[in-house]
Amino acid sequence: MSVAFRISCCLCRKNIPLAGDVIALDAEWQRRYPDMRGTLACERCVIDYGWNCCTTTQGAFVDGHIAAPEDQVDVDSWSHHLERGTHRALVQCHPRSGLLQGAEAYLRSIADRKGIDPGHAAMLRTAIQEWDEQHSSTATLAVTS
Ligand SMILES: [Zn+2]
Ligand SMILES: [Zn+2]
Repeated sequence: MSVAFRISCCLCRKNIPLAGDVIALDAEWQRRYPDMRGTLACERCVIDYGWNCCTTTQGAFVDGHIAAPEDQVDVDSWSHHLERGTHRALVQCHPRSGLLQGAEAYLRSIADRKGIDPGHAAMLRTAIQEWDEQHSSTATLAVTS
C-alpha cells in the first residue's frame, strides 16, 4: 500500500500534474528565484521561468552565476536541471524538497518500509529528522514569543 501525495511546484505553487514529469532544479535556479519553495518544479515552469543564456554579451558568466552540474555544458536554464522523472522517484532523491512540497506522509511511509535499501532508508530518515527538528523549534518559538 502506498500513500498518495501531490507536490506543489516550487515556482508556481500549483500541484504538479500527476501525468507530467517533475524536474529538480539546481542552486542557480534558487539564486535567480529566491522565493522558490523547494527545488521540484512542473514542466510548464521550467519553460516559463527558464533563461536563454548564462553569459553576458562579453561572454563571461553573469554576476553570481552558480555553475551547472559538472556533466552539463553550461549555456542556459536547461543546463541547470538536476534531474527529471516521476513524482515518486524525485521526492525520494530530493527528500528535503519532497518534505517541503507535500510528500511528507509518503516519505515517512517509505522510510519505515521493510525491505528498503538501508542506505536509502538512512538518507530519508536523516532528512525527516532534520525536518522534525526544524518544525519543533519553530513551534517552540511561536509559543514563547
Ligand atoms: Zn510550476
Ligand atoms: Zn549556467
